[in-house]
Amino acid sequence: MEDFNNVNSIIKLIAKSKLKNGDTVLDATVGNGNDILYLMKIVGENGFGYGFDIQEVAVKKTRRLLAENAYENNSEIICDGHENLKLYINKKIDFAVFNLGYLPKADHSIITRSDTTIEAIKSIMDILSKTSVIALASYVGHEGGMEEFLAVKSFVQTLDQKKYNVSIFNFLNQKNSPPKLIIIEKRK
Ligand code: SAH
Repeated sequence: MEDFNNVNSIIKLIAKSKLKNGDTVLDATVGNGNDILYLMKIVGENGFGYGFDIQEVAVKKTRRLLAENAYENNSEIICDGHENLKLYINKKIDFAVFNLGYLPKADHSIITRSDTTIEAIKSIMDILSKTSVIALASYVGHEGGMEEFLAVKSFVQTLDQKKYNVSIFNFLNQKNSPPKLIIIEKRK
């Protein structure tokens, strides 16, 4: 059972409720690879996973993790920015996740940025399957984090409510600027 005390546990709950065996998932910022591994376990050997990261170290680590769990043949981890994802993806996406900010224990100056993040969201919206979800964990404690969150928020709040349900989870009583969770759900 998950507790409602952090962004990742809520992302997992939403993924479990939305995804089924054989679906296609996208992790736009693989980092250490834990999110895409979790998603692959839900979609299984008949599913497919795309992952992106601009850091070679993240890409290699994620490929290794997926191979250790026998998902190397139904996943593709691409070393390029998620703003270019349309160049690589030829399937409809059933669930997409972003973990924004910097990679822990790596170079903290390499961070996601609002312009490329928003570009990637727009690209994913064009290839979402029916009733699928984009979940973004937005970290606001580092320099540039709050600006990125506010820019993404400004963009997503303009989306047509007849087409998308857009919401934000905010942990109100936690210290030290906990990350926020932005959910974009495509409506039927
Ligand atoms: N803040 C999270 C982890 C975020 S990792 C936590 O604390 O758990 C964010 C990842 O996004 C990093 O590995 C970084 O290399 C990657 N990244 C940055 N810009 C990117 C881009 N344009 N496209 C794809 N990945 C990017």
